[in-house]
Amino acid sequence: SYYLQQIEAQKHLNAFLEVFTEDALAQAARLDALQLSGKPLGKLHGVVVSIKDVICYKGHTVSAGSKILEGFTSVYNATAVEKLLAAGAIIIGRNNCDEFAMGSSNENSAFGPVLNALDNERVPGGSSGGSAVAVQAGLCMISLGSDTGGSVRQPADFCGIIGLKPGYGRISRYGLIAYASSFDQIGIFGTQVSDVALALEVIAGADDFDSTVSHQPIPAFSESLQNTSPKKYRIAYFKEALEHPSLDTEIANAIKTLITQLQSEGHTVEPVAFDLLDYIVPAYYILTTAEASSNLSRFDGIKYGYAAKDDFANLTDFYKKSRSAGFGKEVKRRIMLGTFVLSAGYYDAYFTKAQQVRRMLQETTKQVFGNYDVIIAPTVPSPAFKFGEKSNDPIEMFLADIYTVFANLVGIPGISIPLFKHSSGVPFGLQVMAAQDNEVTLLQLSDSLL
Ligand code: GLN
Repeated sequence: SYYLQQIEAQKHLNAFLEVFTEDALAQAARLDALQLSGKPLGKLHGVVVSIKDVICYKGHTVSAGSKILEGFTSVYNATAVEKLLAAGAIIIGRNNCDEFAMGSSNENSAFGPVLNALDNERVPGGSSGGSAVAVQAGLCMISLGSDTGGSVRQPADFCGIIGLKPGYGRISRYGLIAYASSFDQIGIFGTQVSDVALALEVIAGADDFDSTVSHQPIPAFSESLQNTSPKKYRIAYFKEALEHPSLDTEIANAIKTLITQLQSEGHTVEPVAFDLLDYIVPAYYILTTAEASSNLSRFDGIKYGYAAKDDFANLTDFYKKSRSAGFGKEVKRRIMLGTFVLSAGYYDAYFTKAQQVRRMLQETTKQVFGNYDVIIAPTVPSPAFKFGEKSNDPIEMFLADIYTVFANLVGIPGISIPLFKHSSGVPFGLQVMAAQDNEVTLLQLSDSLL
């Protein structure tokens, strides 16, 4: 009930779209009874969690921050939710987010923006802004978001907390409303690496409902953080990334200083050449909008949620009216872009090219991890900006994803850890990426840096 009070007291932040008071209290009572019975307790016994409004929780509304799902109730639990509940977590509510997880500032939600708790005039980042602020403002202990191109790492950076995107296929996507299926991954927000590691351990793992989940055994992530003797890491960074014109000089300097410090501590920190930097944002937006245009075709006014009422002439007109009124501006932009890049005359010029870029990035990545344990980079080129500052210029907003989309294009895990403070008063993070299936190294190194 402490967290219920906190959520009420911080209502103005708009981080929660709904608080599951009754179910949360019922789960708490069940957990109390379990404790009294002396039976073994789950790994997340009593841990208060909130979930992004794109993750299905049976019997509860899920809206993907959109009007088009109006009145829709989940008919099953996402696998991640199922595992959280089984481990004794209390799911306290669902978090506001950008519509269908499309955005970088949480200005695209049909239910209004989420405010950054450190500075209410600034955005919390997106698209999982509500989940980030829920942890930032102490409204829950950990939260789940989704990361298709940075939506966990970027708001974590803007809010001064930890945000982990596991490797593609580490956590089941069953029950996660799809944006771009070959990029989407559930991610975790927290304030301690150990909390994030424990949550990952609980929700990761193979699932009959998602064939893309890795069958690799799940490492004991939380144990891997205990009693580790200090290691010397082989760390790579992309020189071009630190010299990119879009990068804020303070952020560049902070990372350069960190590199020198890590070197003096005996780690190997070396630049590697990376000439594909300017292609990754275009490739990302071509491939994700293509996948989104297909994934979002299911919202036709009939199967789910919102439906146009009376004045439609025929079925096509009904689809048009339902979708025109149900989807917001950004989602429509992406559907149109995705349909365009997939259309017969343009497929090869855009979609095929972007797939080639993706393949080249995967090859480069393989080479880098042949020689290094991790890659470090900024999470975002600038710290949390003010509301309205970028919302009129979608290209500028897209370009700010330059450092985060890489991990999703190649499927590797990435984390943002709050190491720095900007002169504008807001925090910013360092991004660490590791090879596929190597979240252990990511978590260990992050823990040693914090
Ligand atoms: N900002 C990116 C986008 O809008 C990332 C979104 C995400 O990771 N869900 O596509």
